Amino acid sequence: KLENATAKAELGRASWRLFHTMMARFPETPTAEESLALKTYIQLFARLYPCGDCASHFQKLLKKYPPQTSGRNAAAGWACFVHNEVNKRLKKEQFDCNKIGDFYDCGCGEEGGAKKE
Ligand code: FAD
Repeated sequence: KLENATAKAELGRASWRLFHTMMARFPETPTAEESLALKTYIQLFARLYPCGDCASHFQKLLKKYPPQTSGRNAAAGWACFVHNEVNKRLKKEQFDCNKIGDFYDCGCGEEGGAKKE
């Protein structure tokens, strides 16, 4: 089947949105089990991402820059950084990671997330 750049980009935007929103909702002070869950999720995400080329590039990126899952700020900062590395490779603009704070809103309010705060 032919490559469809529109679908590929749409999948990318949807995936990054979920990825960053998940970091924004990750506990500020996670348990060891929660940190491990996020680390495992990221590794499986990189392995199972539907665009095979993207997945293999991203897996190399994770080897070079291992996921930071010690807490929300570390995880969100790390995710912003690796997305910027992908942006660099695709010759896209760099995102200012100082502005990551309120950018990703799950729309779920204070309660109702997967994690209790
Ligand atoms: P996207 O990069 O999708 O970003 C969406 C929005 O997120 C931006 O508009 C901006 O508001 C915000 N944003 C941008 N940078 C950051 C950042 N650093 N941190 C937080 N928010 C940010 N496409 C390919 O063609 N080849 C690939 O090899 C490839 N690999 C990918 C690997 C992964 C893991 C993922 C999730 C996607 C990959 N993609 C790849 C898709 C690509 O990254 C883009 O999603 C797609 O090209 C659409 O780009 P976009 O310009 O709309 O912005």
